[in-house]
Amino acid sequence: MRDSEQPLRGKSRGRIVHVSDFIIESTDSGRLCLTADQILAQMELPVAPTETAADAPANPSGNTPSGPPDIAFEPNPEVPVTSAKKKTKKGKKPKPPKEKNSRKLRATGRTEADHSWVPPPAPNGTKYRLPSFDACRIIYPGANHDPWWDMPQLIAQTRHAIQIFKYIYPDGVAVFIFDCSSAHEAFASDALIAHKMNRGPGGAQPKMHDTINPTTGEPQQMVWPSNTSATDADGKSLTGQAKGMEQALRERQLLSSLDAKNGRYVGVCGNCKKSQAARDKAAKEAKAREDEIEGSGIEGLSERGVSETEAEDLTRSRTCCMQRVLSLQPDFVA
Ligand SMILES: [Zn+2]
Repeated sequence: MRDSEQPLRGKSRGRIVHVSDFIIESTDSGRLCLTADQILAQMELPVAPTETAADAPANPSGNTPSGPPDIAFEPNPEVPVTSAKKKTKKGKKPKPPKEKNSRKLRATGRTEADHSWVPPPAPNGTKYRLPSFDACRIIYPGANHDPWWDMPQLIAQTRHAIQIFKYIYPDGVAVFIFDCSSAHEAFASDALIAHKMNRGPGGAQPKMHDTINPTTGEPQQMVWPSNTSATDADGKSLTGQAKGMEQALRERQLLSSLDAKNGRYVGVCGNCKKSQAARDKAAKEAKAREDEIEGSGIEGLSERGVSETEAEDLTRSRTCCMQRVLSLQPDFVA
């Protein structure tokens, strides 16, 4: 090998390390984390009670912890120790011991925050200790290791990042910019997305959030309300069920704008099915590529595949089927 050459090594060997961090130009480290002095000051503060601890019978009042909080609220023993060890072993900087207490999140596709519990205020006007002193998260994903990085983990990390930011810059306003392809693709589970809807009511379709009917300017619910008299084919009340595309379009007075096929309106036409299949395929290919480079999240979507289908979309009929008409409504356009 010549002096100017480097040995070629496969990138896929060894343990996978996934780092998710917040960079900021105004701290000394360039990262969103506390200084050693700030950490010392934090360690003087009581630990915020956890939801499980507050619900435990030992503390029935739920808001007046008896005894020193450090003793009353020990780290959750359910947190796998192996995973916490892995994190600290390879960490570049000393981590606060409470870091181990951070929740182990399930790997799910949901973007919904499953945790909105707020601890009672700290006693005597004091403040609780921050749950985390460093916004960085390092995981070692893979089979028999940490779950792959997903939206719930990013949301949990961002919640901690916001708390850290508020502590360092009490008067500051944070603007977060996410450079991470898995975040770009994420929607809330109740987002208005036509291709996730069924033609009719109920079933496996998501219950989507309320919106404004662009035709009438009135609020429109995507779920049948409790006082509805609407019933399904068996005469059962549709209360609490998703309305589906046909009803959503009826309320927008758009059913008659659809192309009728043999006197019937089509839920999803062949072209739209094909177009969605192409998108799904492109996303699947991108995901496979990401997994291949082992969860790095670099080079996200298959840009080519998606822009091709988007270009096609512009030339297609805009009234071919219910899904198409609904997807072009202003509140459904992502
Ligand atoms: Zn269509």
